[in-house]
Amino acid sequence: MNGDLYPPKDTIPDVSHPQVKQWVSEIDWSKVPQIPVAGGLPDSPHFPNCPPDDEVDKRSCWWSCDGCVQPSDVVTCPNQSDWGLTYDDGPSVASREMMKYLNSNKISATFFIVGSRVLEYPDILREQVAQGHHIAMHTWSHAGLTTLTNEQIVAEVRWSEKIIRDATGLTVKYIRPPYGDVDNRVREILRQMGYVTVIWTLGWDTNDWRVAMNQIQPDEIMQTFENALDNRELIRSSTGGPGGPVTLEHDLTDGTIYLSKQIIPMGMNRGLRPMSLDRCLNDASPYQKGSLTDQKANGGAGNHTSLATKPGITTPGNGAADYNGSTAQDTKNEQGLSMSKSEAKAMIHNGAQTMGYTVMGLAMVASLMMAL
Ligand SMILES: [Zn+2]
Repeated sequence: MNGDLYPPKDTIPDVSHPQVKQWVSEIDWSKVPQIPVAGGLPDSPHFPNCPPDDEVDKRSCWWSCDGCVQPSDVVTCPNQSDWGLTYDDGPSVASREMMKYLNSNKISATFFIVGSRVLEYPDILREQVAQGHHIAMHTWSHAGLTTLTNEQIVAEVRWSEKIIRDATGLTVKYIRPPYGDVDNRVREILRQMGYVTVIWTLGWDTNDWRVAMNQIQPDEIMQTFENALDNRELIRSSTGGPGGPVTLEHDLTDGTIYLSKQIIPMGMNRGLRPMSLDRCLNDASPYQKGSLTDQKANGGAGNHTSLATKPGITTPGNGAADYNGSTAQDTKNEQGLSMSKSEAKAMIHNGAQTMGYTVMGLAMVASLMMAL
């Protein structure tokens, strides 16, 4: 992708950008609850710092601080035998290995994409769609959305939406807020932009990324998963009924991929059917209107569609100006298709380093959170 057309990687986009101002003007702000922007942790200003339990305003329905869900939140699959298989934080160097395993077992999954990481790996995204997987959004910079201003939330979502659409032709419809950090202010902004909020089933966060940090042994993850399987009857949807689990995993490192390869057969042996979120929700329109297709771009993992492999898919007008406002000569052929092997290798190497730091950051943040 042409990096000049988008905000920088892993940074909160600038809200003074004219494009962002346009997007902000499209929201009916009178409908957005006036909930204060949350504070962050001292060392991680965009990881929400939850107040003591008795000080959390219950009216804000802040999932990450008090576990509150709204009926519109997706936290389970409707069918108790269905298992919503979701992977966050990619695309990364590890994504292809995960896809290879899923494809060889004819399993589809949902990948929650960090928009700014598409800058490096647009081909992986296109492969995911072409292989029958479902793609959804995980924001631009992976900041906790309750810690962002209204305008920053719009910028995070719309830039991610744009880069995913530029790379694949698809306008995604489902979003998982990083850390599951959502309250009623965030929900309403996301809803107005056409998004369905997805969290995960309580107790079914695999904590897989902690293995990559040597904070926890793989056996411990699998034991936790086994316990979750033993307690399947406790699963409750956002409206209080029974359901099937939606798990949280990451296609980030070899370690998380290894774990997923252990966990999938464990769940299947206990009668769960792993599948992408759109399938477990039986959603025949898993992308927003305005996509190249409003229908499922699938047909099953392994069934290929040429949709997302066409080079130069950009919607008209996308290339009118670059991120800094100057005129772009050509936004096509920015898909990395002509990259030489050595260039690709260098890119993967740099990506691996960056991803390592990301995992480390996440781990530190989570340790802090648990200490609270
Ligand atoms: Zn994440």
